[in-house]
Amino acid sequence: MADGQPQPDCLFCKIVAGEIPATVVRETDLTLAFKDINPQAPVHDLIVPRAHYANAAELAFGAPELAAAVLLEAREVAKTEGIADGGYRVVFNTDAHAGQTVFHVHAHVLGGDFLAHFGT
Ligand code: 5GP
Repeated sequence: MADGQPQPDCLFCKIVAGEIPATVVRETDLTLAFKDINPQAPVHDLIVPRAHYANAAELAFGAPELAAAVLLEAREVAKTEGIADGGYRVVFNTDAHAGQTVFHVHAHVLGGDFLAHFGT
């Protein structure tokens, strides 16, 4: 589904709707940022668009201006969390081989310490 409509069985749609609690870090008209329930770094937040897109590819194709809003929000979340100066990581796991487990697109914002290097 790539039209942004809420999906009834989507965990992050339920968090956006306030039906499931989350520790909110920031919110805008377009996005919600909240703490990851299982943090992998001293700061580990998730940013979701309020609209439902399954993954980063669907978001970028279906609503590029909303994709830009999510990326801009990563910068604001990093500032709010006090990690903007030291550097931080923004990750979109995209589909099963990347380990995506919640199919409502989300940016992971990780930081607060030196992070393990991976890839090239
Ligand atoms: P993915 O593996 O899809 O890229 O990331 C999903 C993330 O959502 C994981 O880091 C996981 O810890 C987080 N997560 C799963 N369920 C919940 C939840 O109910 N609340 C919050 N805040 N995070 C969740």
